[in-house]
Amino acid sequence: MQKHLPFLQGGGQLGELIRTEDWSVTVLGAPENWTESLQSAVAISLSSGFPIAIYWGQDFTLLYNDAWSSIPGQKHPWALGKPGTIVWPEIWDGLKDEFESVLKEGKSHRSPDAPLYMHRNGYTEECYFDYTLSPITGLDGEIGGVFNAVIETTYRVINERRNALRNAFLLQVHASKTVVNAYQKLEKLFESAYLDIPFYALYQLDASSGNVYLKLSANLNQNQLDYLYGSINKHIPAELIQLNKLDVLMPEPAIKHWPEPITEAVIVPISGEHASIKGYLIMGASARKRVDEDYRQFYAAVGANTGTILNNAFGAELSVAYQNELLLNADLHEEQQALNEEVRAANEELAASNEELAASNEELATTNEELNQTQDELNETLRLLAENERRKDEFLSIASHELKTPLTGIKAFNQLMLRSVADPERTASYVEKSAENIMRLEKLINDLLDVTKLNAGKLNYDLQPFDFSAMLRDSVASFRLTVNTHQIHLQQAEGVVVTGDRMRLEQVINNFLSNAIKYSPDGDEVRVVSEISGSALIVSVQDFGIGIQQQHIQRLFDRYYRIDNTDMRFEGLGLGLFISSEILKRHSGTFWIESEPGKGSTFFFRLPLEENGELGPITENEQYYQDSHITIYQNQDRDWLEVDWIGFQTVDAVKSGGMRMLSMFKGSGLHKILNDNTHVEGTWSEASEWAGKEWFPMMEEAGLKYFAWVYSPSAFSRLSAEKAVDVKVGDTVIQFFTEAEAARSWLANLK
Ligand code: ADP
Repeated sequence: MQKHLPFLQGGGQLGELIRTEDWSVTVLGAPENWTESLQSAVAISLSSGFPIAIYWGQDFTLLYNDAWSSIPGQKHPWALGKPGTIVWPEIWDGLKDEFESVLKEGKSHRSPDAPLYMHRNGYTEECYFDYTLSPITGLDGEIGGVFNAVIETTYRVINERRNALRNAFLLQVHASKTVVNAYQKLEKLFESAYLDIPFYALYQLDASSGNVYLKLSANLNQNQLDYLYGSINKHIPAELIQLNKLDVLMPEPAIKHWPEPITEAVIVPISGEHASIKGYLIMGASARKRVDEDYRQFYAAVGANTGTILNNAFGAELSVAYQNELLLNADLHEEQQALNEEVRAANEELAASNEELAASNEELATTNEELNQTQDELNETLRLLAENERRKDEFLSIASHELKTPLTGIKAFNQLMLRSVADPERTASYVEKSAENIMRLEKLINDLLDVTKLNAGKLNYDLQPFDFSAMLRDSVASFRLTVNTHQIHLQQAEGVVVTGDRMRLEQVINNFLSNAIKYSPDGDEVRVVSEISGSALIVSVQDFGIGIQQQHIQRLFDRYYRIDNTDMRFEGLGLGLFISSEILKRHSGTFWIESEPGKGSTFFFRLPLEENGELGPITENEQYYQDSHITIYQNQDRDWLEVDWIGFQTVDAVKSGGMRMLSMFKGSGLHKILNDNTHVEGTWSEASEWAGKEWFPMMEEAGLKYFAWVYSPSAFSRLSAEKAVDVKVGDTVIQFFTEAEAARSWLANLK
């Protein structure tokens, strides 16, 4: 037991050991005789929390503190007071020079992370230290020993190495595109990991058979492999399993790096819920590092990464396969597309065929329609023929009756004459009566003859200028003589000269007059007016009789046409108006009727007085045209052509105006026309056919889409317009209006 020495205070276990050590038997001698520098160094080391050792004297006798005591491992406490050569026989050769130079030359040394394989905890461990060697100098300047301050860096160094390995594994996680390549990569990785994984064996489980196959291994012979394989119970362990005391069965060192055999190993599962490749990884532990928690974590990480590398490669392979399949599919897709294309083309052809079929059907329909129409027309013709036939029969029966009436009269008066030969006065009156009947008979026969001639186109006209006014006056006068039921008023322009057939025009007047009287049995007045309008003469005969219904007006001028006035019986053959109309046409005249049933009728005819100059003076520029029949111009907004027809329209006037409209419409870019007939008088029925079938199609081609038609107040003109529309060819939209303003607003609202 040392006596109480102040520099040997405290210091824990080592303090105690140093104090109890019998130093007198060592080269250091009793502590109280130690040099002052040694005493201070010991005092410093005992009071320091850092590991400090003191190698004193020529044989470097070791003194150390509590913190340092773990460095020699199991050599503590034996090492205390022993020379360095004895404590560290295994490393002293490497350290000797450094210690010597410190002691002899006073040089300090520092070694970072120096590997020192220390035998501690029952085996030689791989250790690293950061240490300094510095001289302990006495008051006399003599260097008595080496002051060794140490920090162990084993943990950091090994950790860094293992982390580097883990990173190397991580780097390969996505590097392999095939499983074969992944095994190659793993082989290389394990090769570089020999210090921490001195041997390994990688087994893969075949899911279908449940068998386990060795895929990779290193530093194991067949016996060792067989032994390790026996430790796998074929059930993939949920977690790491540790194998111990392997050195009993595998006494040879697995790697040359360390001379000792390996005693420990681990089995790590390669699995994972969705892993395709499952198996086991057996890894040996370093002969110089016992398996601890850090080591286990390292193994687990290597196992996990190995699994990931393999499964990712497997995934990549699958994805390549998938890609290939996709490519294959793409080919298929192409084929499919080609097929689709064919199908599409076929469909298109089908559609075309269908279209053609539809077109054919349409044509067929049109043909059918046309056929139907033709049939309708035929039916209509047949109907008309039948009607004509019926009317002819009716006519014959009427004619017989009509002819028989005066003939019966004549016969009767002749018999009376025979009986009254003795009474010349009576005889004279019978002769007169008989003559009246003869005249009626003659008129009937003349009408019949006229119609026959008309039918044969043999009605001759003697066209001469004559005094129309005189003729009219005479006609009215002779009527006044025979008619006592009606007052006949005549109002006329005097001295009107007309070029024409006097007799035939007189026949027209007589027909109008006799009808006016005949068809106004309750009336007592007939008005005859003749006036000059522009370059024409207009004659009208007005009665206040039964009137004519609208539906009959147009047909009155047809031959044999008689209105069936069943409640009243009027004699006649229905030929008069037909003959009149033919006579008027032959004189370039027109005719029309205005009538109201129950109130009376007015029969008009119009005769042009000058052969030429029908159009009168013409005013014309690009956007404006005017003659005596028509005014044509673009409306304010230049949106449509506005046409104002004026006065009486002849076929020629209608055609001339129509052609003028066409030339102004063509190229104007317009699509609409306002066709105003407000100022039209009379009729133009002869031009209806031409307007509907020829003029409208020409206008449509020139761009006409919308045609607003303002009716004339003249019923005859309306009928002509409607007839034109009835026979119209093309798609032009025609709308009738009674007011020009309504027509304008219709047009304005159209695009
Ligand atoms: P008709 O000899 O039968 O009178 P017209 O050809 O002269 O033959 O006339 C044809 C038809 O026109 C007549 O049957 C009659 O129905 C009708 N008609 C002619 N004039 C008049 C009139 N002023 N008022 C009413 N109806 C008339």
